[in-house]
Amino acid sequence: MTKDEILAVYRQVYEMTGAVTVTSFDCGLLCDKRCCRTFAYGDASPEERDYGMELYPGEELMLADERQGGWLNWRFLSGGEYDLPSSWAKHEGVYFVGCTRPCARAKRPLRCRLFPYKPILKANGKIRLVLEKGTENYCPLTEDQLDAQARRKLEAAMEFLCTIPKVRELLWWDAQPNYRGDET
Ligand code: SF4
Ligand code: SF4
Repeated sequence: MTKDEILAVYRQVYEMTGAVTVTSFDCGLLCDKRCCRTFAYGDASPEERDYGMELYPGEELMLADERQGGWLNWRFLSGGEYDLPSSWAKHEGVYFVGCTRPCARAKRPLRCRLFPYKPILKANGKIRLVLEKGTENYCPLTEDQLDAQARRKLEAAMEFLCTIPKVRELLWWDAQPNYRGDET
């Protein structure tokens, strides 16, 4: 898959998810935007400043304009050195980013669009979103506050994202029983 083809998929996925919110209300009011605060604010503790999230493979192309002077700190996680598919070579990693200030919402990475969900790739190729492990200690949302229609839209977007081979490989790897795939 060429870079242009990957970028075209990401553009569509950002379009599909841009207006989707996991709740029908502003959940940031419940917690003072906790899932952004730890990265974005000057009063973050030193260890919180290292917090962040992985981009999906190729997502860095969407954020290329932000590499210089943008709101993200960047670090490359190499295949073979981090919890990434064992078949990946060192140059086939993903980027880990942390926010230094609040983002322009339209540019927020996919992990932010999905939180508090994480995607699980099923054997039949479908994506199911489940709550991220440990979320209950961090995010005050309960299952019944989450919008089922929004969840289906995000699942459809992630299924489309899986047309990028590296994304599919990563989600397949995450779903392996001896690895992180403790959700079924
Ligand atoms: S997703 Fe959870 S942690 Fe993030 S703003 Fe909403 S309620 Fe707060
Ligand atoms: S990219 Fe935006 S939405 Fe995501 S954690 Fe940073 S400030 Fe929050």
